[in-house]
Amino acid sequence: MAKNVVRVGNVEIMALSDGSLEFDLCNFFPTIPEDNWQPYEAHLHDHRVRFNLGSYLIRSDGKTVLVDTGLGPKPADTPDAPWGQLLRDFETKGVRLDEVDMVVMTHLHRDHVGWNLMPQGTKYVPTFPKARYWMSRTDWETSHQPDVQPMRFPNAPTCVWPLEELGLIEFMGPEQHITRDLTAVPTPGHTPGHMSILITSGGERALVLGDAAHNPVQLQEPDWVSRADMDPDLTRQTRKALIERLEREQILVAAGHFEAPGFGRIVTLEGRRYWRGL
Ligand SMILES: [Zn+2]
Repeated sequence: MAKNVVRVGNVEIMALSDGSLEFDLCNFFPTIPEDNWQPYEAHLHDHRVRFNLGSYLIRSDGKTVLVDTGLGPKPADTPDAPWGQLLRDFETKGVRLDEVDMVVMTHLHRDHVGWNLMPQGTKYVPTFPKARYWMSRTDWETSHQPDVQPMRFPNAPTCVWPLEELGLIEFMGPEQHITRDLTAVPTPGHTPGHMSILITSGGERALVLGDAAHNPVQLQEPDWVSRADMDPDLTRQTRKALIERLEREQILVAAGHFEAPGFGRIVTLEGRRYWRGL
């Protein structure tokens, strides 16, 4: 199994997972004719696309930063759901929830905010009791638009909005340094305020991708947008520019929805781009 911890200069990145999700191909990529997938069968599981629900725990400059918090506890009526495992993964890997100083959300879709809070009676308490919660103001505002919220940010009312009353929110802007080694890089399209997180330390770099890509196929087919991409044109534009940069500068990538642990680099072989897992 690929190892779940990498070092980038003085920074340690540990891959954690809330489990996985699967969707029928035609459901998740409704605009891509099925036949176009033929060369990429190896990326599919029985006509389905599988997503790891990856989070990354970054130890940087004396701070412990958790990027994304999975889909959250499984509902009582789906005890067999293959997700809802993030807290167990913390335990397995020997990380305490109160070690987390900062929770950083790449965006506010439901599979990135699920474990932010725990219900307690009629109130909510932070799952990571010492953390402040970082997000883009643009996604925060978009998650409050009544015509957008129910479809695009279904669990924001229980997993994101209560953070305001708890006084735990920090907004991050484009290119903002959130620690000495971490920078929020705007990668809009999938959501309007989507951010990837750049790690720079000791002359080395890595990028926590967020949902700028969901599947390695999109490195070869950057125009393939999914139904989860809110602005298809901007998604394509952002993805192409990002892929080019990541390859040109050989930046290590941490891709939360690729096969766990999701660490790898983008390379070109015989004129085609590929994902090379670590
Ligand atoms: Zn996602």
